[in-house]
Amino acid sequence: MNRRSFLRTAALSATAIALSPAATISAAGNPTRKSVASGGLRLEFMPYELQLRHAFKLARSQRTTTPDVQVTLSIDGITGYGEASMPPYLGESVASVSSFLSSLDLSQFKDPFLIEDIHEYMDSVAPDNRAAKAAVDIALHDLTGKIMNQPWHKIWGLNPEKCPCTSYTIGIDTESVVRQKVREAAPYRILKVKMGLDNDRETVEIIRSMTDVPICVDVNQGWTDRGKALEMCHWLKEKGCLFIEQPFDKSAIDDTAWLTQHSPLPVIADEFLQRLPDVRRAAGAYSGINIKLMKSTGMHEAYQMAALARAMGMKVMLGCMTETSCAVTAAAQLSPMADFADLDGNLLIANDRFDGLKIINGKITLPDTPGIGVRLIS
Ligand code: MG
Repeated sequence: MNRRSFLRTAALSATAIALSPAATISAAGNPTRKSVASGGLRLEFMPYELQLRHAFKLARSQRTTTPDVQVTLSIDGITGYGEASMPPYLGESVASVSSFLSSLDLSQFKDPFLIEDIHEYMDSVAPDNRAAKAAVDIALHDLTGKIMNQPWHKIWGLNPEKCPCTSYTIGIDTESVVRQKVREAAPYRILKVKMGLDNDRETVEIIRSMTDVPICVDVNQGWTDRGKALEMCHWLKEKGCLFIEQPFDKSAIDDTAWLTQHSPLPVIADEFLQRLPDVRRAAGAYSGINIKLMKSTGMHEAYQMAALARAMGMKVMLGCMTETSCAVTAAAQLSPMADFADLDGNLLIANDRFDGLKIINGKITLPDTPGIGVRLIS
């Protein structure tokens, strides 16, 4: 997005703000802001379409953009940034996120540190809207971290030296595009391979002809036969694969539990789970869980999910959607708790608005910057 169209979008956001409960419609039909009771949280948001560098192909879909809503929360002259990213399969949209955010009255909260209470309030307004809640949660963490003048990994007591390497995603594509993406992935120490079509083995063989780095495999629910899946897991282990993500449909719990029991590779839940109560449901059927802020309603519950999974002896993976560095860096604050990380969503878009985490020699490197660790650059 060029600067002029960005400013136009920003102007539209003023309309979105004015649709909150703290606003009213003037006689002329123009939204105007009603004065907010002194000292409460001020929520603003605007739609921001993410442009993908490559068409994103999965076993069941393909797209070139991702709808997104950018959020700010302010109090006493300090602003926190947040974001909702809405890949279509999650069922949220710019309209649903805008509608949910407009329905919130966060001005009732004078203390941004009441994160638990604010989540209870948001859940009382509507049960779902997870990405919209994540946007508020991320902005709340950025805001409170800035007030404390510390990054969240420090507030949580996590050692940034323990951040894992992130994988870099190779989508389902033609041989020439797969080769191009493997070349682009040279700085990364793990490659994530999307699977679920007939040519899965060919894709792995192409990658193996170019590099020896470990791979992990995301099937996105694409497999249907447990026998073939087990055979594939054995073959993939020989090919240097570290784990399998969401092999079967999320409803196929018996098949998944059987595969987890027999597979030489850990089986990680992704589409199967969203929030904290789902971690217990995943235990037994899966070896680990893939936590994403857009599913978990943000950092607050993501931390609890990671802690519970570890306590239950499960692997923890941190993932993301296609997002700007805002949400990806927020997720990375948790990454010292993760066995695996797939935090490359910001690298897949062409119009990032933020500077945040860095990937150095394939490893996640957190900035020592208060809050979620990002700086607005456009
Ligand atoms: Mg996945």
